[in-house]
Amino acid sequence: MVKETGYYDLLGVRPSASSEEIRRAFRRLALKYHPDKNPSAGEKFKQISKAYEILHDSHKRELYDRGGEDALTGNSTGCRSAFDSPLDIFNLFFGGSTRVHHQAERKGKSVAHHLPVSLEDLYNGATRKLSLQKNAICAKCKGSGAKQGSITKCPKCQGCGIEVHLLTHIPGVMSQIQTPCSECNGKGECIRLRDRCQVCSGRKIIREKKILTVHIDKGMKSGQKIIFHEEGDQAPGLQPGDIIIVLDQKSHPVFQRKGHDLVMKMEIQLADALCGCRQSIKTLDGRTLLVTSQPGEVIKPGDIKCIPKEGMPIYRNLYEKGSLIIQFQIHFPESGWLNGEHLTQLQGLFPSREEPIITEDMEEVSLAEYNPYEDQKQRGRQEAYEEDEAVPLQRVQCQTS
Ligand SMILES: [Zn+2]
Ligand SMILES: [Zn+2]
Repeated sequence: MVKETGYYDLLGVRPSASSEEIRRAFRRLALKYHPDKNPSAGEKFKQISKAYEILHDSHKRELYDRGGEDALTGNSTGCRSAFDSPLDIFNLFFGGSTRVHHQAERKGKSVAHHLPVSLEDLYNGATRKLSLQKNAICAKCKGSGAKQGSITKCPKCQGCGIEVHLLTHIPGVMSQIQTPCSECNGKGECIRLRDRCQVCSGRKIIREKKILTVHIDKGMKSGQKIIFHEEGDQAPGLQPGDIIIVLDQKSHPVFQRKGHDLVMKMEIQLADALCGCRQSIKTLDGRTLLVTSQPGEVIKPGDIKCIPKEGMPIYRNLYEKGSLIIQFQIHFPESGWLNGEHLTQLQGLFPSREEPIITEDMEEVSLAEYNPYEDQKQRGRQEAYEEDEAVPLQRVQCQTS
C-alpha cells in the first residue's frame, strides 16, 4: 500500500506498475507535452518529468511509496532534482545531447597553472602577480549579446533550442531524433543584426586580462594548491570554474626539503672531523649560522646531526619550525701527504692498535686499485671469447688455478 499516488496519477499508471510501464507512460506523455509540440503545456511537461525522475529511480520510488512527497524532500541524500531542467530528463530519456545555454548555474572547467617558486619563497613567504587572459561576460550587454529588449524567442523551437523529428519509416515503429534548431542554431533566441551588442559583437563574452595576486604563505609545500574560486572563464548561464595555482618548487643548490625538515650535506676536513670544527651556513632568510662541534668530538663519514628549529617554517603555525639536518662527508688528505717522521709522530697520537700475530703460513698480498667498470669489461670480453670458442671449461680452470 503506497502513501500517495500523485506521481503515478501524473503518468497515468497504477502504483503497482512495472518500471517498463512507467517508462512507456512517460515516453508517451513526454512526446505529447514537449514544449516543441505543445508550447502552452510547459507546466505539465515539468510535472511529468518530475514524476518520471522519481519513479524510474528505484531508491526514490521506494522512499515515495513509503512516505510520499515529504519523504523525498526530507531525505538527506537530497532529492533536489539532479537535473537542471525537465528537458534534461527528456534528453536523458531519448538520448539527446545536453544543451548548455538553457541550464542554470552549471560550473565551468577549472584550470590549473603551475607556478615555479624557490625554496626561499616557501621559507619566507612571497607574493606573486600572475597575468592571465580569460573570458568575461560582456559588461555592456550583461551577457545577452544584444540591446536590451531586442531579443526574441525563436519562433521555431519556442526557445528550447531543439527540434524533435519523428521517424516513421519503419511501419509500426516510431522513433525520434533531436537536432539543434535550424532557425536559431540551438540558441533558442533570435537577435537582429542591427541589435547586436557592439562591444562583444553578439558573442556575449569578451576576452579580458586579469591579474591574480598569489600569496605564498610561509611553510607551503611544492604541489600545494592555491584556489581562486570562480576566476575561470565566464559564460552566460555558467558558474565560472576555479583557477588553481599549483606551486612547483625549483631545486635548491644546498638544501633539500623533507617535510618540515631541511637536509644538507656538509663536507669537512679530516682535521675538523677529529679535532672539532666551525662551519658557517647561510640560511634561507639570509642569516649566517656558525656551526661548532665540541673540541675532541669526532665526526665520522656519514654522521647525521641536526640543528633544531632551523628547518622549514610550519604552514599556519608560525612559531614552529622543523630541523636542519646535516649529513657529514669527510674530506681525507691525498696519499703521501705526510712523510716518514711526521707519520710516526701522528701514529703516536692515535690510540694503540692491535697488530695481527704473523705466522709462517701467511701469504703476504698488497692492495690494488679496484675499478668495477674495468673489471666488468674484462670479464665481459672473456665471456664473449668463451662463447665463440665453445670452451666453457676454461673459465672454471682459470678460477681454480
Ligand atoms: Zn555585449
Ligand atoms: Zn530555434
